[in-house]
Amino acid sequence: MLNDDRVVVWFDIDNTLYPSSSRISQAMSDRIHAYFVNLGLSHEEATALHIQYYTQYGLALRGLIRHHDIDPLDFDRQCDGSLPLEDMIKFDPKLVKLFEDIDRTKARVWALTNAYKPHAQRVLRILQLDGLIDGLLYCNYQVKDFICKPEAEFYNLAIQQVGITDRSKCYFVDDSFRNVQAAHALGWGKCVHFCEKGHDLTVNGNLVNGLENGEMDSPIQRISSLEELRDIWPEIFKDYE
Ligand SMILES: [Mg+2]
Repeated sequence: MLNDDRVVVWFDIDNTLYPSSSRISQAMSDRIHAYFVNLGLSHEEATALHIQYYTQYGLALRGLIRHHDIDPLDFDRQCDGSLPLEDMIKFDPKLVKLFEDIDRTKARVWALTNAYKPHAQRVLRILQLDGLIDGLLYCNYQVKDFICKPEAEFYNLAIQQVGITDRSKCYFVDDSFRNVQAAHALGWGKCVHFCEKGHDLTVNGNLVNGLENGEMDSPIQRISSLEELRDIWPEIFKDYE
C-alpha cells in the first residue's frame, strides 16, 4: 500500500448504492423506533429522541449507548440484522458496470459506512459489489465511543487505512449532505452529494436529511444518479485520455 499514488474513491453504502424505492431506509427507521419503544418510551418520545440522536451523534445508536446504556450488538441484530435485505434489494447490472469501469490503475475503490460490518458486507454481497471494492471501512460497534461520519476522526481513520496523506486524492459520494460537507471541509478533493430526486430521509414524517441548510450555496455537487459520476469524475474511468 505504501507508495500507492492512486486516488481513492469512497462510496457510502446505505441509500447510496441502492434506490430509495427499496424502502430499506423506512424499514430501518421502523426497527429503530420499535427499539426505542421497547426501552419503555412513548411513540412521541421515541420519535423525538430518534431525530435528536441522529442529528446530534450521526447515528441513533450512539445516543442509545450514551444515554440508555444499550448493547450495540443487540441493537444491530434487532435493527440492521433483521432486515430481509435479500427480498428488498437486488443487484443492478448498471451499478456493477459502473464499478467495473473505474480504472484501477488510477483509482482504488473503498466503501465507507456508518453501518456495522455484517450489514455492510451483506449489502455489498447482494449487490455483487463485494468483489469490486478494495476495502471497507465500517463503524466498529464493539468499540466503546466508536466514531462515525460526519466526525473528522472517522475520515482521518479512513485516509490512514488507505495510507495516503494527500486528502485531495479522495473522491467521495454519500447520500447524507452532512457527511459530504464534513469530508469537503477536511480537504477531501472531490465530494459529491447523492440525492435521488424527491427522496428525503424522514423519521415518522419528519424531514431529517434532505436538501439541508447551506446546500443551495455549497460548491458541493449534487447528483441524482450514480451514472452521473462518469461525467463529473471522467478521469477515474477507463478510456479517459
Ligand atoms: Mg447513506
